[in-house]
Amino acid sequence: QIFDLLTQINLSQSESEILNKFRNIIHYYFKYDCLTISAINSDGKNAKIKLIDGIKKHIPSENNFNINGTINGLPYIKNEIINDSNKKYNLFRFSSNDDKSELQNNFLGIPIYLNETLWGAILIESFGNQVFNSRDQRLLGLIAKAMQTSMSWFVEYQNVYEDAIKDGLTGLLNHKTYIDRAGEEIERARRFQHQLVFLIYDLDKFKRVNDTLGHPYGDYVIKTTAKIIKDNVRSIDLVARYGGEEFSVVLVNTNKEAATTVAKRIVRNIAEHNFSMNSKEVDMTISCGLSEYPKDSDKLKDLIQYADEGLYKTKDNGGNDVTIYSSTSS
Ligand code: GH3
Ligand code: MG
Ligand code: MG
Repeated sequence: QIFDLLTQINLSQSESEILNKFRNIIHYYFKYDCLTISAINSDGKNAKIKLIDGIKKHIPSENNFNINGTINGLPYIKNEIINDSNKKYNLFRFSSNDDKSELQNNFLGIPIYLNETLWGAILIESFGNQVFNSRDQRLLGLIAKAMQTSMSWFVEYQNVYEDAIKDGLTGLLNHKTYIDRAGEEIERARRFQHQLVFLIYDLDKFKRVNDTLGHPYGDYVIKTTAKIIKDNVRSIDLVARYGGEEFSVVLVNTNKEAATTVAKRIVRNIAEHNFSMNSKEVDMTISCGLSEYPKDSDKLKDLIQYADEGLYKTKDNGGNDVTIYSSTSS
């Protein structure tokens, strides 16, 4: 069954889908009143419930609990498989809000390590008289090993995936991902009859930053610009690093009029930003071009080209502005 489970794990699934597969196998082999899978927070003091199954009582707020003074924290503190009864410890399950009358439970818990770093814990509890035996202990140990393997694959996959879709300097989507996602947005907009707005930004006279202040300063300007753009749009919008000092944005479910306000605000925020590193300051401006789906075209290639034409018109007019593409004016 564990082998089957490992072969069925698809790393593009979400973490909770993967953990749910482990829930199923634990549920199959164990009689429990409550199963909790938790993961340690970066502070090393609190853990977060990732999955809880069975009698869900007194779930702590925001699913966070202190590993000190709680039964669920014991596998973290003890750092080994633990098969015991709360008679010995008299701890709360998650927090001091727990009902004392329910605290006499038996439990079997195990810490989960990913690449030798403590990641989380599995805890199964019985609120009745059921005691877990050494066979249970061995079995949970095996399941925990399988979980360690799959979660370390999953975390590795996530890292590789992030690297593959994002630009390393800015954390924005990279060019290829932008093309893929923008294509998907057009499909979605077609289905739901939404409008989309395509923006292309290019920093004005950026080369002089590299030439006069050095490449690391140029990197800093690109990173800061990326953040300003990102902070001015919604999380559903696409923001990508299109090229060196060029950025592309897709504003979802909006029109030219509303988008122009956003586009201009970004231009203004860049112009007003105090770029400063190593006590050297520089003034930057950015230019933008804008096109709209489906008014200007229903094809990605055209929409990008038209936004680009708008951008070059802005540059011709001295930069630091937005030009809305229109097929009649060129
Ligand atoms: P314009 O106003 O016409 O846009 O001129 P510009 O100087 O901004 O544009 P140009 O295309 O001449 O120069 C862009 C420069 O950006 C050239 C390239 O060396 C630099 N560049 C590209 N990627 C990076 C990067 O990741 N970091 C840094 N520091 N510079 C970069
Ligand atoms: Mg450029
Ligand atoms: Mg430029």
